[in-house]
Amino acid sequence: MATRISRTPLELRPVERDLLNQTGGAHVEWCGRGATALYWAFRVARRLRSDLDAPEVVLPSICCATPANAALLAGCRPRFADVNARTGMPDVDQLLHRVTGNVCALVFVHLYGQTAALDDLARHCRERGVLLIEDAAQALGANLPGGAAVGSAGDCGVYSFNPTKILECGGGALLLRNAEHSDVLDEVVHAAPLEEPEADALASLGVSYRNLHHALVALLRGGADAREISPAFMRLQPHYDPLYLRPMHSPWRLADAWRSLPSILDRRRAKASLYAELLAGGPWGTLDGWRESGVCWRYTLLSASPQRIQTLSERVRRDGFHVSNLYWPVSHFFNPSDACPNAERFARSVLNLWVDESVDEDYVRRCAMSLKERARESESVESSP
Ligand SMILES: *Cc1c(COP(=O)(O)O)cnc(C)c1O
Repeated sequence: MATRISRTPLELRPVERDLLNQTGGAHVEWCGRGATALYWAFRVARRLRSDLDAPEVVLPSICCATPANAALLAGCRPRFADVNARTGMPDVDQLLHRVTGNVCALVFVHLYGQTAALDDLARHCRERGVLLIEDAAQALGANLPGGAAVGSAGDCGVYSFNPTKILECGGGALLLRNAEHSDVLDEVVHAAPLEEPEADALASLGVSYRNLHHALVALLRGGADAREISPAFMRLQPHYDPLYLRPMHSPWRLADAWRSLPSILDRRRAKASLYAELLAGGPWGTLDGWRESGVCWRYTLLSASPQRIQTLSERVRRDGFHVSNLYWPVSHFFNPSDACPNAERFARSVLNLWVDESVDEDYVRRCAMSLKERARESESVESSP
């Protein structure tokens, strides 16, 4: 078989070689988005489990919505695992809790650059005929706890090189570790080759999706019932289908960016260390999994006073700094019957700070000062009679 339609472009051969060596992989398929890579992975999972009439996939409840959208597009019903309140990532038992006989794939998302030991999970998935997908979109270059590279524990690895990720040059990739799966992928890609979308229409559709998501997160945060929001959201999803499947552009940009990955990760860690030092003792906890994984995507605070987080982030924004708290349990949109109580608490307390190339150490110092002052202000307001 193996009549590959998408051969690796010459300039991407070094990147391919690195990814395959680091993960013990068999094949890399290039595309325009992490979403496309996820879609392909789900299609492969469906082919491998053609015995299932109503295939399901298990996703973490704390994540962006993209993996769930890719699952829908691939004809799989998303199910959601609750998360560990200290990391925002699901533990093995929380994931397995959602593995019914209909599940063909399970996605582990290395959230905000953190990683987790996946050997036990991989064994369970193998035993149950479930494809294990590692989503490394936020953790490019990270190590798993034992020191192996992210992407080396699952059957598949998903990569994104699009804006807001570690490299922002554009593109995505699906890594397969099993050569037999790459024959299945070949069929999937042959059956539906990627087409060049119309750029302007796509851009406005992307804005529409983002605005819809932000608007609904605000309603849910304010206490709206997810069982009312979800059907409305789900009815609109087919409008957004054109967003997810894209071919790769300008592979030379990724080839260039790849060489600067080590220094980009160094600078991110330096900024995260500085935040850790400057923000110690504030009314928040911090996620420090980046120290072990080597990758900090955003520097994450978990507020001790979630009820004040909106006001706090608004004030810090007014001081001129990026803070985001847009993560909301994805289950509320796609499948509210999968209760995820830890994810709700986690989502209400997250504040993400920037450590990317758009900010320098001086920015980090000023941002930390703003956070500490604004937090003090809101506490003294609260404690005054
Ligand atoms: C951004 C992201 C994706 C999707 O990547 P795109 O290239 O934007 O399609 C998938 N999973 C996670 C965890 C992400 O953060």
